Amino acid sequence: MSTGDTVDAGTASGAVVRPAAVEFRNVSKIYGEGTPRQYVAIEDVSFTIPDVPDHGEISSFLGPSGCGKSTVLRLVAGLEPQHPPTRGEVRVLGQRVVGPGADRGMVFQDYTSFDNRTVLDNVAFGLECRGVPRARRHAEAREWIERVGLDPVRDAGKYPHELSGGMRQRVAIARTLILRPRIILMDEPFGALDPATRLDMQDLLVRLWREVEATVLFVTHSVEEAVYLGDRVFVMATTPGRIAADLRMPAASAPARETQSQPWFREQVQRLQEEMERVEAAALRPEERRPAAGRGDAVAASPAGAR
Ligand code: ADP
Repeated sequence: MSTGDTVDAGTASGAVVRPAAVEFRNVSKIYGEGTPRQYVAIEDVSFTIPDVPDHGEISSFLGPSGCGKSTVLRLVAGLEPQHPPTRGEVRVLGQRVVGPGADRGMVFQDYTSFDNRTVLDNVAFGLECRGVPRARRHAEAREWIERVGLDPVRDAGKYPHELSGGMRQRVAIARTLILRPRIILMDEPFGALDPATRLDMQDLLVRLWREVEATVLFVTHSVEEAVYLGDRVFVMATTPGRIAADLRMPAASAPARETQSQPWFREQVQRLQEEMERVEAAALRPEERRPAAGRGDAVAASPAGAR
């Protein structure tokens, strides 16, 4: 049993050990190692995200541009050239990552739909690859189109160029969730959207996540987004990229717009902003770098699953 494993309540046959959803053990990634362009993107990164039964957790990765957030996410996804790590080990659901897998789904910032496929065929694409017959995959795709807030009749026949940015990201989310991955990796998925659409998408994500109970790793450089979505926020620092703080967040119980003005939310945003400033100041004075602050620091959070 590794340190990141979860022991469930005892059953007739004894305790059930669930491997961590994601575990980094002393992971470093050096691009172009041994060449003049060698660059240490992340150094000695370790963290564990437990596999919480019937719940899942959203972990936000927050940090300035270039601190290695995408590198971390793509290492979990098993995507080259980030994969494999230069040093250390990345494990997903107890197994060392050897490449992409059906247990992980990824949503990127840029819209990743096929231009020459309708919304319906884009959403059904993964099932098509799995050999699911046309009628069944289309029926399932229509359900997902509706779940992400699009019209299963009117929007299903549209092509990506006929959709707004928010609608395209809804398609990207439906394309990923239809495959029911245990782990969902989101790389600034709402970064290109206008503020109002962004809040709608945050609400959508929280609603869907309740339904799919997956573990979500969410990369953002918006402090507000990290606080609203995250059960936990990893603050990353640059040069080299590393985890500077690991903070628990209270669960939001109201829609994003309402939550923005709630005192607890403003307090957490301020706390994270201060943490980011501290991290950035320390990066300018490497000799004063402190060890990671706030590790395991639990705030008076609502009970798990209260979202
Ligand atoms: P973030 O997502 O936080 O903006 P990234 O993980 O994309 O950061 O990048 C971390 C650092 O590694 C950046 O300085 C970036 O320029 C560098 N980097 C990312 N990918 C590559 C690559 N394929 N080759 C060389 N350097 C890279």
